Amino acid sequence: AERSGRNRFRCFEAQMNAALMRFVQTREALALALQQQAFELHYQPQLDLRTGAVIGVEALLRWQRPGVGLVLPDAFIDVAEDSGLIEPIGAWVLEQACRQAAAWRAAGWPSLVMSVNLSAVQFQHGQLVETVAAALANSGLAPQGLELELTESIVLQEDAALRETLAQWKCQGIGLAIDDFGTGYASFAYLKRFHIDRLKIDRSFVSDLQSDDGSRAIVAAIIQMARSLGLRIIAEGVETLAIAAQLQGMGCDAVQGYLYARPMPAPELERWLQARDN
Ligand code: C2E
Ligand code: CA
Ligand code: CA
Ligand code: CA
Repeated sequence: AERSGRNRFRCFEAQMNAALMRFVQTREALALALQQQAFELHYQPQLDLRTGAVIGVEALLRWQRPGVGLVLPDAFIDVAEDSGLIEPIGAWVLEQACRQAAAWRAAGWPSLVMSVNLSAVQFQHGQLVETVAAALANSGLAPQGLELELTESIVLQEDAALRETLAQWKCQGIGLAIDDFGTGYASFAYLKRFHIDRLKIDRSFVSDLQSDDGSRAIVAAIIQMARSLGLRIIAEGVETLAIAAQLQGMGCDAVQGYLYARPMPAPELERWLQARDN
């Protein structure tokens, strides 16, 4: 018994070491990636469900990791957050996304809105207001051209400073959306107080819309409540025409998903936009 206990401990220790190794190696590689500009943004269109017009794009972070290829954010965002690197990486994302949005708005899509994801950790260090302001100033993007996607965990903190920050952004004209809505615990009462103007219904509910009565009830309730509060709604992860039709019937405003387009590098998205205009 003692022997097997010791083996179990060794096994646990090996796993700990593996996790620590991954953290340290990824952290070093991310720091280097920042220096060497190995990050890029891909952009996924957001469409008005009724008219089919493109209303905006979401910026999604990618990492060109040498010897590995294109790495998706779920493989490194946690390390970026736990190491503090999310701050400079997030600042780069904001700046890059705002520059791209300003360029597209000037090039013939004047009402295009750029959605940028923010991590809760970026709110913890007190530089975020300045970082957002600098990204707008350096790019020349009008604040109306920027929307910040927050998670429910961010607005759940009953925090006066946070409320002040969001009020300030709202006052400037920056849009505020709650990402992955329905997976957390934010109440509708909170959303009003925190100046949120749009809810993004989480992909898990959207993809189950056809098959699961529970998901259908949740989506219907979210849409109805949002409408009665004057909040706009976007559904993410729309993969089929049947789901799009069902969402439209339920009164959803906007959609995003593989049915319309995958996230694409800037030149490809620009060609996609041009092809739609014709
Ligand atoms: P998210 O904000 O919920 O982004 C939506 C994710 O769903 C993206 O994954 C997108 O590529 C994917 N997606 C879009 N349409 C569909 C669809 O029809 N079907 C399916 N199955 N998936 C779809 P991605 O790009 O891998 O990003 C994963 C997550 O990483 C994001 O989830 C977001 O939480 C985070 N993330 C991405 N970029 C950033 C960033 O710049 N900063 C921060 N803090 N987080 C980011
Ligand atoms: Ca998002
Ligand atoms: Ca989401
Ligand atoms: Ca998500």
